[in-house]
Amino acid sequence: MKTVITNAEVEGRHVSVVIEDGCIVEIDKDVVTLGADVVDGAGGALIAGLHDHHVHLLAMAARREGIDLDPLQTPQSFDEALRSASANSESGWLRASGYDEHRHGTLDCRRLNALVGNRALRVQHRSGLAWVLSSAGLDLVLNGELPDGVELDADGVPTGWLLRLDEWIARRIPPTTPSLREVGAELAAFGITGVTDATPNLGQGRLEILRSAVSDRSLPQRVVLLGVDDPQAVADFAKVGPAKIVIDEVTGLDPDALARIISAHHLKGRAVAIHAVSRAETVTAVTALALAGPHHGDRIEHGSVLPEDLDAILASGSVTVVIQPGLVGERGDHYLSSVDREDLPFLHRAASLQSAGIAVAIGSDAPVTSADPWVTIATATTRRTRSGNVIGESERVDARTALGWYLTDPLDLGGSPRRVMCGGAADLCLLDVPLDEVLAAPNAAHVRMTWVGGRLVYS
Ligand SMILES: [Zn+2]
Repeated sequence: MKTVITNAEVEGRHVSVVIEDGCIVEIDKDVVTLGADVVDGAGGALIAGLHDHHVHLLAMAARREGIDLDPLQTPQSFDEALRSASANSESGWLRASGYDEHRHGTLDCRRLNALVGNRALRVQHRSGLAWVLSSAGLDLVLNGELPDGVELDADGVPTGWLLRLDEWIARRIPPTTPSLREVGAELAAFGITGVTDATPNLGQGRLEILRSAVSDRSLPQRVVLLGVDDPQAVADFAKVGPAKIVIDEVTGLDPDALARIISAHHLKGRAVAIHAVSRAETVTAVTALALAGPHHGDRIEHGSVLPEDLDAILASGSVTVVIQPGLVGERGDHYLSSVDREDLPFLHRAASLQSAGIAVAIGSDAPVTSADPWVTIATATTRRTRSGNVIGESERVDARTALGWYLTDPLDLGGSPRRVMCGGAADLCLLDVPLDEVLAAPNAAHVRMTWVGGRLVYS
C-alpha cells in the first residue's frame, strides 16, 4: 500500500512524501499519487515521530485503572476521592496512585481505614517507591510476615507504610492485566512513535502483557526495554537498550561495587542505564562509570541533582543524561521549598549539560509526570513551575533543541536527531501548521496524524 502526504513542510521545504512498505521512498515537489492514499498536509510540518526515552508503560496503564490522586490539591479532595471510590465500587482491592504528602497531608492506615472501612486499599506514593495500605490491605499482604520495609510505630505495629517493597507486594496481590490500548492511543495522539520502558527487572508476566499489546497493536509504538536480561527473549516484539541499574542512597551507595556491576555488563557488550536522582547518587553513578571506563550507550536516568564537577567525566565518557524537564513544571514549587539551597543550581539541568558537551535525551518518566512531550518542551523553554516561579533560568533551551532531544535514535542517544528522509522508516508526525509556529507555542493540539512504520495510528 502506498500513501502520499502532499503539501507538507519538511525542514522548511514544501514537498510530497511517498510512503511504501513502511518506509519513505520519495520526497519531492511533484510525485505520482495515482493509486495511493493521499493525505493533504495543508502546509503543516511533517517531522519524525517522537521517542520518549524513559517511561513505565504498565504503571501508566495501571494508573489509568486505579484512582489518580495526582490532580487533587487538598487533603479534603483526597479524602473525598477515596471515600467515593470505595462507595462506588464492588468488593476487592482498591488502588490509588499519585499520593503527595505536601498536598494530601500525612497518611497512615488509620486515616485510610476511616475512609474505606474494612476494604483493602493500597495507595502509591508519587515517587513510586512506597505504598500505604489500609488495615485490611495490610492483613492480606503481610499474612503474618514482616519483611524489611514494613514501617512500624513505637509499639511495633505496622503504620501502613511499605517502603521499597513493590515486587514483594506484587507477588501477594492477585495480578491485574492492565490494558495498554489507551496508553498507546494517548502516546500516538502526542505524535509519539516509540518509547523506551525503563522499568527494572521486567519479569515474565509483565513481558507477556507487553508482548501481546505490541503484537495485537493495541500498543502501536516501537518499544525499547531496559529491564530485560536476555535480548533474544524479547526479540519478537522489542529491542533491548542498556541494562537498567537502580541505585538508592537509602539502601547504601558503593561506587566500587557499582563499577564491578557496570563492568560485567560492558564485558557482555551491553551499556548501562543508571537511575540516579540525588547528589549522592549521581556522584556515585558517575564515579563508578569512570572506574568502569567508557562504553557506547551508557546513560544516567534523571540526574536530577547533577553537580557541574561531574561534567568532564560525563562528556569524555559519552554518557547521555536522560532528563525530565517536565518535573520542573509539575514539582518545581515543591522543590523550591524542599531542595537544599546548594543543590538548586544543579537541579534538572539542561542547557548547561549541552554546553558542557554532554549528550542529552528527554524522557517523561510517565506516569510520574505527564507523557505529553509538548508540555515538556514548553517547560524546557520557560523553566516555569505551576505557580509561575522560574527554576534555573540559565537552564532554558529553545523549543527546537528540546524537540531534538525527543528525536534521537533510542539506541544511539548521542547521535543527531532522526529526520524525514528517503529510505528511513515512516515513523512520522504531521502537524497542522509549520514547525516554527508549533515551536513558538508547543501544544499537542497541533498533532494531526501519526504513522508508525507507515501505518496510520492516530488521526
Ligand atoms: Zn523511571
